[in-house]
Amino acid sequence: MLIDVHGHIGRVVKDRKEMLDGPELVKKMDEWGIDRTCVLGLSETPEAEYMESDTDDVIRECSHFPTRLIPFCLIDPRFGLNDPKMDFGWLLEEYVARGCRGMGEMLPKLPIDDPRCLNLFRQVGKFGMPIIIDMNDNPIYYGLRDDPGLPRLERTLQQCPETVIVGHGPTFWAEISGGVSVVERLGYPTGPVRPGGAVPRLMAKYPNLWADISAGSGYGALSRDPSFGPAFMEKFQDKLLFGTDCCLRSSTRKEVRIVDFFPQLLAEKKLSRDAWEKIAHKNATRLLKL
Ligand SMILES: [Zn+2]
Repeated sequence: MLIDVHGHIGRVVKDRKEMLDGPELVKKMDEWGIDRTCVLGLSETPEAEYMESDTDDVIRECSHFPTRLIPFCLIDPRFGLNDPKMDFGWLLEEYVARGCRGMGEMLPKLPIDDPRCLNLFRQVGKFGMPIIIDMNDNPIYYGLRDDPGLPRLERTLQQCPETVIVGHGPTFWAEISGGVSVVERLGYPTGPVRPGGAVPRLMAKYPNLWADISAGSGYGALSRDPSFGPAFMEKFQDKLLFGTDCCLRSSTRKEVRIVDFFPQLLAEKKLSRDAWEKIAHKNATRLLKL
């Protein structure tokens, strides 16, 4: 059993690249051996690109494949008068009633501990849903902002203890290492992971911080240092979630490298079967109450 917690559908993104629709996503899942995929919305946030998908698109497409696709909802924290006290309860109630199991992908260009984010995150936690966040300090991209060492993420975890925050994105995964340079925080660092990273520290300290290992950022963080990645996965095997972040018609299995990463690790006996089963589906089943 393999659950992908991070997939997308839509029409077109930057450079007129075509996104997958529901049937195409399911076809790719069949080819890649993925049983179920969480479909995350994007279009509620103005930083999203062109014609992607909003929560209604996601719910509609997922309803055609109820055993394969799991809808996530998305609310921008600035929605509703841009007010840090906005009540989102009515909207969350509707989304949960329509089958949404989580929130994401959260990608505004705001500090993660902005009062509007904290307000939304607390309310999402009350509905029992986790939030998949994208963290990126690169000024030209979308994504939540933080300072070196992720002090704002730490404050968010403290201020929203009932809410499971699922880390994702370049700046989040760059901080798996200690001594991260400004350039490394904006991209996809390679080479040995130095001790003292914010991500292992925060994941060990806060039960409400989990991580999704999708995209080039997640794959890069786990594969860049063969002596660190497998040990990290063993240590945090109860809080890591398999994902691809696959969204384009043109994406190939060779490009989405996380798909063939695990069969190789298991064949070489670098990761235990127990840890893999949790990362592959047991953690998602527990977190999303599937
Ligand atoms: Zn994504």
